[in-house]
Amino acid sequence: MPTKLIEIDLGKSPYDHDNVHNRWHPDIPMVATVKPGDDFVVECFDWTGGWVKNDESADDVRDIDLTTVHYLSGPIGVEGAEPGDLLVVDLLDIGAFEESSWGFNGFFAKKNGGGFLTEHFPQAQKSIWDFEGMFTTSRHIPRVRFPGLIHPGLIGCLPSREMLDTWNRREQALIDTDPTRVPPLANPPSAGTAHMGRMKGDAAKQAAAEGARTVPPREHGGNCDIKDLSRGSRIYFPVYVPGGGLSMGDLHFSQGDGEITFCGAIEMAGWIHLRVNVIKNGMTKYAIRNPIFKPSPIAPNFNDYLIFEGISVDEDGGQHYLDVQVAYRQACLNAIEYLKKFGYSGAQAYSILGTAPVQGHISGVVDIPNACATLYLPTEIFDFDIMPSNAGPTKMITGGADVLLSPDL
Ligand code: ZN
Repeated sequence: MPTKLIEIDLGKSPYDHDNVHNRWHPDIPMVATVKPGDDFVVECFDWTGGWVKNDESADDVRDIDLTTVHYLSGPIGVEGAEPGDLLVVDLLDIGAFEESSWGFNGFFAKKNGGGFLTEHFPQAQKSIWDFEGMFTTSRHIPRVRFPGLIHPGLIGCLPSREMLDTWNRREQALIDTDPTRVPPLANPPSAGTAHMGRMKGDAAKQAAAEGARTVPPREHGGNCDIKDLSRGSRIYFPVYVPGGGLSMGDLHFSQGDGEITFCGAIEMAGWIHLRVNVIKNGMTKYAIRNPIFKPSPIAPNFNDYLIFEGISVDEDGGQHYLDVQVAYRQACLNAIEYLKKFGYSGAQAYSILGTAPVQGHISGVVDIPNACATLYLPTEIFDFDIMPSNAGPTKMITGGADVLLSPDL
C-alpha cells in the first residue's frame, strides 16, 4: 500500500485541517516532503468542503459562500525541485471514498456565482449522482448512465511572489472595468474566509489579504477543469518556488468539456494516488509557460456522437467577431432544445451537458465573422435512440423527478 501522505476527516470542517488550504500564496508551508520517484496517496474534500449535501434541496447551492472555495490538499514539497524545473506528476489512480460514493452537479444562482448559461438558468439547481463502481446515474435525471472519466479539476504548484503579484494586478484591472457587474468579472483576494494551511499569526493574516483565489486556471495550471486530465495521465507542471508546493482538489467523477454548469461537474470527495519526478530546468528546455500533459491510456469508449454546431451569433441575433464563447454557448443551447423534445426539462438537459463526457471543439476561428464551435454528445449514454427521424422525437421522459430548484431569496 502506498503511503497516505494527506489524510482528511470528512466529518470535520476543512478549517480544522492544517493540511488543507483555499488560497494560492508562495509562503504557505509544505505539509509533507517527498523524494523524486515516490508514490503516495492524497485525500481530498469535495471542492465545497462538504457544504453541498446528498439531499432533496438546492438551497445549499443557492446559499454557498463562494469565498470559501476551493479546499485543496497540500502543498507537498518535492526534494530538489527548484524554480524553472518541471514537476512530473503521474496520476496513478483516483477514486471516491467507499463511505461517500456519490457526487453532485448544480447551477449557481445568477446572484451568487452564475455560470455559462446563467441568463437562461438564473436560479440555483442541483442533481445528485450515485456511483456504481465506474458508472454513474442520477435520481434527478432519468435514462442516462455513463462511466466516469475521473479527474482532479484543480491541481498545480504554488506561485512565486512575483507571479502572485502579477495575478492580483491584472485581475483587479479587469474588475475595475466594471466593478459592480453581477456575476463579477473576477474574484479579488478575500481575507475573511481564507484558510492558509499551516501559516499562523500576522504572517497568515497578511497572506490571507493577498492570497489569490483558486477560481481561475492560471500559468501554474490550477482550476483548469480538464476532463481528460484523468487517472493515468502524466502532467508536467512549471515550478516557481523551492520544493514546488503541489496542491490539488476539486475531484470530478465526470465532466463535459467546459464544465458549463459551473457547480460544477460531478463533484466528489476522494483520493488520488500519485507519483512525482523532476526535470531540471525543464521550463527553459521545453519552452514551458503552462502545464502540458499526456492523457490517460483509458477513457470512456464512445463510438457514436450527435454533434451540435454553434456560431458566434448570439441569442438576440447579435453578430460577434470570431467569439468562440458565444459560438460554444449556441452549440450548448441547441443541444438543450433538442433534448427537451424527448421530454427532458431544460435543467436536466443542461445537467447532462455539464456532467457526461461530452466533447467541446473549437472547429473554426478564421471564417470571418463567425467562429464555429461544436458539442459532441455521446449517443450511447442514453438508453433510447436520440437520432432524428421522420417519425419525430418520442417523449421518453414523462413526469418523475427533475433537477432540484431553489427559489431566489
Ligand atoms: Zn469542480
